[in-house]
Amino acid sequence: MSKESKNNILKYFSSTASTSLQAFKKLKLDDNVIQNNEISLKSTSSQISASELLDNTKNLVSTFEARKDISYYIGKQWSAEEKIDILKNIWVPDPNYKFPQSGNRNLRFQINWTYEFCWLRYSKIQDGAFCLTCILFPPSDGLGKGGHQNPGKLVIEKYNNWKKTKDLFMNHQNNHYHKLSQIKFDSFLVIRIKKVEPIDRQINETLKKEMNDNRDRLRPIIKTILFCGNQGISLRGHRDSGVIDLNEHASTENQGNFRELIKFRIDSGDNVLKNNLETTNKNSTYLSQSIQNEIISICNKLILEHLVANVNKSKSFTILADETTDISNKEQMILCVRYVDLNANKIREDFLQFIEIQNMSG
Ligand SMILES: [Zn+2]
Repeated sequence: MSKESKNNILKYFSSTASTSLQAFKKLKLDDNVIQNNEISLKSTSSQISASELLDNTKNLVSTFEARKDISYYIGKQWSAEEKIDILKNIWVPDPNYKFPQSGNRNLRFQINWTYEFCWLRYSKIQDGAFCLTCILFPPSDGLGKGGHQNPGKLVIEKYNNWKKTKDLFMNHQNNHYHKLSQIKFDSFLVIRIKKVEPIDRQINETLKKEMNDNRDRLRPIIKTILFCGNQGISLRGHRDSGVIDLNEHASTENQGNFRELIKFRIDSGDNVLKNNLETTNKNSTYLSQSIQNEIISICNKLILEHLVANVNKSKSFTILADETTDISNKEQMILCVRYVDLNANKIREDFLQFIEIQNMSG
């Protein structure tokens, strides 16, 4: 062979090999065979003989063919992206394909079976039938040790006894293992193709909406309590329990500042609050005295945290304490703090807390 013609052959196989490689990379599937071939092509491209290159190219082509065959995917794990590639690229025989005859009775695979059983795939390499669904989407507790079902033929090995084939396919389709796989497969298609949010994200969204709705319901109640606190007015009244009657002709009895303010908000057009009171159960309106106290306690905690953070920032502070008796004759110690507010650059005095005094002995 002349040097020139040898170079031409080398050039031809190099370009064929590189085109095949690009096609494989497009599949985004890792494969040692491809990598090994790629390395050997690169490392020996300067000295390799035409026959070696031909062998390498044949290997690549056969690997490429193998990747289109369902049997290549048995017993392996694939990512969601890889599964999409597999579903797009898996080989499906056309209606005129001549399936080989096998066995004593010279029977062969029938293309019609694939129309009847959508999960059925034919492996050209193994001349056998497989279940695409069970291979790509095995139930998590199905295969391997501890699995409750033995997938057997069609899933981990081919089925090629073409006698009573449809009965076997029907049995497979009805078994628990296949049904679980089919559910996984269907939800995968719905999510990937119809772009529906995965179920965990859907649940998250539902929870988020519920959380936001609950916050909307609580907001006017908290604002009313804060209003009373800012204005230094009491919340409770003499008749302030039970459901607030929004009827215009309801009793005009004074129900205390909190409940009267709630009614006033509704009268002024707070429809979220109105809807909340009209539609929720009597025991979940968040208007009771215990809820009021709980909200006051949370506000107290947040205000204290804010004050303590400001006091900690200043270089010096003083605690002021005094004692007084409240309306129920309990001795209360008042704690205040005097400190330099670095944000406003001035001295501040803030009330911290009332502390009930249990013992006056000192
Ligand atoms: Zn199956």
